[in-house]
Amino acid sequence: MHCVGETYVRAIHKVGGTPIILPPVMVEEDWPAILTCIDGLLLSGGEDIDPVYYGQEPEAWLGGVDEERDNAEQGLVALAVEYEVPILGICRGHQVLNVALGGTLYQDIAAHIPNALEHAYIPGHPMNHHSHSVTIDPEAALATILGGTVFNVNSAHHQTVKELGSGLKAVAYASDGVIEALEMPDHSFCLSVQWHPEAMVPTATEMWPLFKAFVDAARELSVPF
Ligand code: MN
Repeated sequence: MHCVGETYVRAIHKVGGTPIILPPVMVEEDWPAILTCIDGLLLSGGEDIDPVYYGQEPEAWLGGVDEERDNAEQGLVALAVEYEVPILGICRGHQVLNVALGGTLYQDIAAHIPNALEHAYIPGHPMNHHSHSVTIDPEAALATILGGTVFNVNSAHHQTVKELGSGLKAVAYASDGVIEALEMPDHSFCLSVQWHPEAMVPTATEMWPLFKAFVDAARELSVPF
């Protein structure tokens, strides 16, 4: 099966978008055709990214990797950035966005960041478990979209952004300094969050505006293909 969590599909549908699930097996020749079918690129959560893409050797705590998915998602990001296709990255997608643009990751938070908070609450807790708070830069588009700067979020990751990719700005942090959101100020709509807003949407309305803003940006897209 090639599948994606139901909550992503429902979050897009709930705010008026038309969800289309992309298989992770497309090769470079397929990427332009894929982009003709979509008006926005949502990068979903998932497994770790192969550290070869950010110039590191695999460490002991690295989880499973998927070369086809790594390759396809990074290729789509590059095209979506070039053609200003709206991008919303979530969890792994937040990390994919960073790596696709030349950034790096810590392969494991606990192994590399002393006194870090617990960020790997899932599995072991419900996906909508309030795990820690995040503080958003009041100047960030994300703060405007969500209408606030401090939110309790879920947290289902053991890796995190280290060095920023080209054109990206860190716009939200957990209290331990872990980067929880990125934006590309020069892009019409390119942002990513380390938490799982789609898994908060069924019960908490505060993350709906993020999907609404993404779908609204997708609706305004005008690309030459
Ligand atoms: Mn977190």
